Amino acid sequence: MDSDGITYDRTNYQTSKRLLGKVAVITGGARGIGAATAKAFAENGAYVVIADILDELGTTLADSIGGRFTHCDVSIEGDVEQAIQLAIQWKGRLDIMFNNAGISGPEGSITHIKMEQMTSLFAINLNGIVHGIKHAARAMIQGKNKGTIICSSSSAAIMGGLASHAYTMSKEAILGLMRTTACELGEHGIRVNCISPHGVPSEMLVSAYRRILGDKDLQAEDVSKIVGDRGSLLRGRGASVEDVALGVLFLASDDAGFITGHNLVVDGGYTSAYNKNS
Ligand code: NAD
Repeated sequence: MDSDGITYDRTNYQTSKRLLGKVAVITGGARGIGAATAKAFAENGAYVVIADILDELGTTLADSIGGRFTHCDVSIEGDVEQAIQLAIQWKGRLDIMFNNAGISGPEGSITHIKMEQMTSLFAINLNGIVHGIKHAARAMIQGKNKGTIICSSSSAAIMGGLASHAYTMSKEAILGLMRTTACELGEHGIRVNCISPHGVPSEMLVSAYRRILGDKDLQAEDVSKIVGDRGSLLRGRGASVEDVALGVLFLASDDAGFITGHNLVVDGGYTSAYNKNS
């Protein structure tokens, strides 16, 4: 059973080993979307390095999938470089970089915005992605093994009013950065894409809803219901971490071999159409 109570048919993606022998680094891989992606990558034959600030969760997950964990704060360039070096020391190469780590907040009106709070969010959501692309690109160019880079953007980069000003700015900036680096790195055979989830009841989204609604007891199931009721065009549910992981798996695999500079939106159609039921 998957996280939202739906059982996916995984037969194909578990047995076809779409990432056999590939070496991946996932930032923010200790929980949520990053953890689900780490599992999907490992089930598909990849060697996974989990880079996160949550040492205990990250180590337990890495052990369970035959991967490696490294403490990494993506806002510190040296930490990100070290995570990539760990992959190279371990398996001699880097094929996949998933720049997934991100935080939400600070909510509130533009009339009371505090620049220092915005700057601390940018340090993770933006600088962290720059660090990841920079060092992954270096390793992939040097290794001449092509490779693929995927960055976490968001539905908030597409529609206004879904998240805080700082979060929205960071996620939209990631799209621009992704397109620009896709232009530059294409000549090396390196693909750069984004994944844009919407409404996954992860720790990040649940704590954002707790802050916004002032309800500290809110649980993932409550958030899933709120998000689901507000408008996926599909089954009246929010996205699950697995929905997003499968999108990332596709972008990381050779199935997406001619896809670069693309933003793959995983939102049940939320950002595509006005939904009269929402
Ligand atoms: P999550 O909070 O469950 O996971 C985020 C992970 O990033 C955690 O493991 C956390 O420890 C890690 N992290 C936070 N700060 C870090 C830092 N400085 N250095 C390294 N790791 C750090 O949330 P999630 O929903 O799984 O978020 C994953 C990504 O997806 C984020 O970039 C988020 O913005 C994006 N996203 C999520 C949603 C959603 O609905 N949940 C929607 C759009 C985009």
